[in-house]
Formats: sequence, C-alpha cells, structure tokens
Amino acid sequence: MTAAPATLDRIRRHLVGLRMPRSLEVLEHLLRQLERGEISALEAIDNLLDEELSLREGRRVRAALKMGRLLNIKTLAGFDFSFQPSLDRNRILTLAGLDFIDRHEVVHLLGQPGCGKTHLAIALAVEAVQAGRSVYFTTLAELIGSLAKAEREGTLRERIRFLCRPQLLVVDEIGYLPVVAGGGNLFFQLVNARYERGAMILTSNRGFAEWGEVFGDTVVATALLDRLLHHAVVVRIEGASYRLRRHADLLPDTAAPRPLHPQEAVPRRRGRPPKPRPAELTGAM
Ligand code: ADP
Ligand code: MG
Repeated sequence: MTAAPATLDRIRRHLVGLRMPRSLEVLEHLLRQLERGEISALEAIDNLLDEELSLREGRRVRAALKMGRLLNIKTLAGFDFSFQPSLDRNRILTLAGLDFIDRHEVVHLLGQPGCGKTHLAIALAVEAVQAGRSVYFTTLAELIGSLAKAEREGTLRERIRFLCRPQLLVVDEIGYLPVVAGGGNLFFQLVNARYERGAMILTSNRGFAEWGEVFGDTVVATALLDRLLHHAVVVRIEGASYRLRRHADLLPDTAAPRPLHPQEAVPRRRGRPPKPRPAELTGAM
C-alpha cells in the first residue's frame, strides 16, 4: 500500500497544525512498515497517536513534578522493602492506589532518621503525579517560613489558598528543627483550611506525644493532632537507618533504632535475649 504524495503532504500539514511533532517524526517510519506489510493500517494509526501521547504525558509529568517541587525523585520500585521488615509492603502498595487522596486523609510516616520516610513520601507523591493528581512537596521549616513571610507581607490568605490547591500536600521533616515562635499557629491555620478537603503526607522522627515540644506549644499541638489524626493512616517504620547500613558497627548505642513510643518498648533484661516482638506490634497500622 502506497500513500498518494498529496495525501501524505496534507497529513504532514495536519500534524504540524495540530502540534503533533512526535507523530510527524514517526510518520515516515510507520509508512515504510505499512508498505512492507509489517503492520496494519489500524496499528499504524494506533502507533502514531501513542507516540504523541507518550511525549505529552512525559512532558506533563515532568512539569507537574517541577511545579510540585519534587526534584529529588524516588520511586517505590527503588525502595528495598527487605531492608525494613517491620514495614508492611502491602500497606504502602495500598497507599499507592491513592484512595487516601480521594478520601482527603492524612498519612503519617514515622521513624528514626534514615529509615526511608522521605523516600516513601516522594515515591507516593510521584505515583500521584503520574496518576494526574496535583501535588506539592515541602518541609515543615520551609512551609512555616513561607507562611510567616506571607503574614509579614499581608498575603497570608493567598498563601493558604495556594497551599490548599494541591490534592496532595507533603510536609516533610516534622520534628527535626525547632519551630519558630508563632509557627505552630500558622501551620494550624493551613491544616485547618485543608481539613477534610485535601490529603496530606507528613513525615516525622518524633512521636505524637512529643508534638507539644516540637511546636513549643501544647495547645496548638493538641489542636493540630485533633485534625491530623481524625482521618489518618499511621505508618511506623521501626527499622534502622538505610544511610548507615554499612556502618552499624561504628554507631554509638544512642544512634541505634529505638521505638517511637517508649511505653511500647520491650524492657531490657539481663541474661537471655528477649524474644522478638510480635509482628502486629511493629507493623501496626
Ligand atoms: P528519612 O527521611 O527517614 O530520614 P530517607 O527517606 O531520606 O530517610 O532515606 C535516606 C536515604 O536512604 C535516601 O537516599 C533513600 O533513598 C535511601 N533509602 C532509605 N530507605 C531505603 C530503602 N528501604 N531502600 C532503598 N533506599 C532507601
Ligand atoms: Mg527525611
């Protein structure tokens, strides 16, 4: 089958007019395959559209990742679940189904430094972007900094409105840096504005009981937790730091992984080593 030169010319002009550069690029190749009988006409049309769509999809995802400030990309495929046996892989895969976004839930990823909280938060955010959801990634310190700046400039309402737009807001590193005075209050205003309207993923190396200390204000911490635990999924990662995995022998005892909730800790005993903890305690939802 050979296409008439005039028809081919028109197709080329249409592809230019419709801004389909990738289709234009593959047109010749597909025609040759068609002439040699290697593909059917339907397959040629299918391929032509598929190539263009892949190009656009790739562009869309790249732009959305950049807009959402997801620059250091991590994926679920790149996460070694065997390194964190306390973490239930299926729970993370269920989260990757993204129903929590539609239900406007809050996912808490808790664990010691290096256990993979940021990696998993970004990986879930990347899944969301690929599925067409809007996402914004920030750390708590950056977020509070931006809210405080907006407040000084008289644009706090606009800033909060901006931060309410993404379907998923990731707030990383709660508890690493002390929150500046008034910061908890600003964060509360945002959390309250997003409450039951938009999903969040929060990561923290501190237990909820320590939030009063983290925010320097127990009243604000209680009000925050009231909203943030109402429709929530809590994932505790009890394992060790992936960053330090090759250097465990160099670590002082204080850097060894410790449970986030001291009351759940198995008391240390002399003599026989304690029995391993039951799986339902370490992997509890
Ligand atoms: P956290 O936020 O809990 O401090 P990160 O998620 O930043 O820890 O992890 C530290 C580094 O180790 C990152 O480069 C991350 O990609 C990597 N990492 C952590 N856990 C895993 C894992 N289970 N498999 C693969 N890489 C991991
Ligand atoms: Mg982190």
